[in-house]
This record gives sequence, C-alpha cells and structure tokens, in this order.
Amino acid sequence: MQNGSPVNMPTTLTDVVCCGCSCLCDDLQVDVDGGRVANVTPNCLRGQRYFSLSEQGAQCRIDGEEASLTQGISAATELLAAAKAPLLLGLGELTIDAQRAALDWADKLGAYVDAGNPAEPDPSGMVLQSTGLITATLGEIRDRADVVLYWNADPQLTHPRYRERFALGVAGKFFAGSRTSLVIDQTVTATSLRADSYFESPITDNLEVAQTLLALGRGKCQNPPPKLLRIHQKLAAANYAAIVCGPEFFGGDDGAAVLETLADYVRELNQTNRAIVSLLKSGPNWVGAAETIAWRTGYPSPVRFAADGPEYEPTSFRAAKLLARGQVDAVIRFDGDWLRKAPPEMLTALAKLPTIAFGHDDLDLPAKVAFRVAKPGVECGGSMHRLDDVPLPLTAVLSTERQSTETIIRQIIG
Ligand code: SF4
Repeated sequence: MQNGSPVNMPTTLTDVVCCGCSCLCDDLQVDVDGGRVANVTPNCLRGQRYFSLSEQGAQCRIDGEEASLTQGISAATELLAAAKAPLLLGLGELTIDAQRAALDWADKLGAYVDAGNPAEPDPSGMVLQSTGLITATLGEIRDRADVVLYWNADPQLTHPRYRERFALGVAGKFFAGSRTSLVIDQTVTATSLRADSYFESPITDNLEVAQTLLALGRGKCQNPPPKLLRIHQKLAAANYAAIVCGPEFFGGDDGAAVLETLADYVRELNQTNRAIVSLLKSGPNWVGAAETIAWRTGYPSPVRFAADGPEYEPTSFRAAKLLARGQVDAVIRFDGDWLRKAPPEMLTALAKLPTIAFGHDDLDLPAKVAFRVAKPGVECGGSMHRLDDVPLPLTAVLSTERQSTETIIRQIIG
C-alpha cells in the first residue's frame, strides 16, 4: 500500500473519508477482506460505487497496447516535446498533492490549465475575487440555520447524505427545532416535494429572480411573484438563512452576474439577521482545484503559464473555447465523472488531439498514453477539500501496485 501501512488483511477502518461527492463524508466504516472492500457503512449507493474498483488493468497503455510505466513516461515526454500549446483539464479528480504536481508540470510546459469542471460552468472563483461572498462551513449551517433555500439544488440526488449530515435532518448545536425548507428550481424534485415553499423558474431566469430578491431586500419591488415574495419573507424573518446553490445554478448564460446579485442580496439580509451562500459543487475535489490554482498563480481558473508569468482570461482560456478554436495541440486529461457529463462537442474535440490520460476507472476515451493510477481515498492517501473548503485527509484502504498520479507526474517532470 502507498502512503501507509499494509491493510490487505481482514480489517475494519473507521472515520474513512469518502470521495464519492464533494460532501467528503469523514465518518465511514470500511471493511476490507481478501484485498477488496467488502462493506461500507453507512449505506450510500454513490459512496459504495466509489469504493468498488474496476478491473485491475495494465499500469500503462500506449496506443491501447500494454506498456511498462517507464515506456509510458518516455512516450509522454516525447509527445509533449512536440507540443506548443498543451492543455491540462480534469484537476478536480485529483488530490491537492497531485494538483500541485500538475501545476508544476503545466508551468514547465507553458500550458493552459482549466481547473474548472468542464461539465459545470462555475464563475464562483471570479466572483469571490471581484465581489466577495458571505459563506459558511457545513457544520455552521447544521448548527445554526433555521431556514434553508435550495436553489437548483437537489442534494438527495447529487449529495445523498448531505441532508442527514448537514441540513434539515439533524439537530444543530444552537438550533434543534424544525427547519423551514424553501426551493427554487426549474422542475419538481425530491427536495421540492418536501419543501415548505416552492417557486418554479427556469435556470435561464436566475438573474431576473436574483434581481427581484435583491429589490425585495432593498424594499424596492412593487409586484413580485407571490411565491417568490413568500420565499423572501421567510429568508428575511430567519435568524440564520442558508442559501444552497446546486451545480445547475450557473447553467444560464449569466452565471457570474447571478452569483454577484445573490451575493448582494445576502449582504442585504445580513443587515438584520445572518445569511450565507453555500455552493453545492460536484465532487470530489473541484473546490481544491480552484484553490490550488489561486495559491499558485493568484488567479482563479483558467490560466496559461506564459514565459513571463501566469496569464488569466476568464472566458477565452476556458477549455471548451480553446478546443473549439483549435488553439490546443496536446491534452493532459485527468479522468473521472466529469467526462460522463462533458458536452459532446468537447469530447469530439478532445478525441482528435494527442492525449496523455490519468484514470482509475474504465472509460472508453482514447489516449495516446494512458496511465492507470491509484484511486484517491481507496488506493492512495493525500488530501482533498470539502465543498465548504475544509481540508480532509484521505486513507488508503487497499494496497496496490499502481502509482499515484502525483508520483507519475513527478517522474515525468524529473
Ligand atoms: S454523500 Fe457523498 S461523500 Fe457522503 S458517503 Fe455518499 S457519496 Fe460519499
């Protein structure tokens, strides 16, 4: 086993962190028997899936043919020697340690890096730097929030244990009553069915809805939709209001403007009570990816490591834009769930480029050089950042011959 002592004997590990989504639940019990995970409790289907490993394949393939790690490292080095504009993407699938190594590599190559999830537009890094955002840890939401608004958020589907651990389902240290649940969404969801108030609205109208809430907060709205007015009244009357925005929240064209307007509304609510915004991002470590790139470059993603320092272009350096314009001549791809949800046109463009891929699951996406790496939180340790920025250490629960992404990158960099 890497990064720890061998545990390939019947054993039970406690307080294990799950990387199945960005909740990074750190209370799991994992039973290991016969070199595999035999049981994971508490029961969460998504978590169980994360701990189940696909077939152990070759550690490396070149053009689909089995190769040694050394051959793979040589082939990757050769491929990149001919590249003038490589692109790194998929960093949210990596541990913080591997993200740091990936950025060292990008710096050396003069590469573009899009650290955002290509399947989910997310301007929050930009908004955090330009406007700021009042936010909170999940523990604070659990302990204090008496009113929770879910906006394009259906945690039951995307973050299965979110409610039982952090909201609604549990009593907090400073609030043990029954919480009021509000929902704004484009369609009825499991969360909206249990809500006290529900306002149906398409994602493309999010800016208008946020502007109406802001106007209500400032006492300057004459004729708001009655259901939206009710939601505002409950948020304004709360002792502690939490506005939880799901991965779809930024789906319209104006994601940054929506979040900026919501941030202004939350500042208005804070004139009389406490209110925060919590972003329910996909996992496992897109939050960490945004932070790692900001530590390293001072910019939110996306950036280009130019000869005279990092350059930041919020729109034109996005992976989708670079690929659509043919500005990339090689790709370093960190595989994971994002590939299953990425736009088809992006996948088509990626398939045409010489690619070095790092993955731990079976994905039928082509790559000139494909490394099969140790799975974070199952076969290797490291750390990741929960959706509220809290860093958590991972446990390697199984032993493996496979190398971690970080180790392979460090060998390539030399
Ligand atoms: S909610 Fe997410 S992090 Fe928690 S156990 Fe389920 S998949 Fe894992």
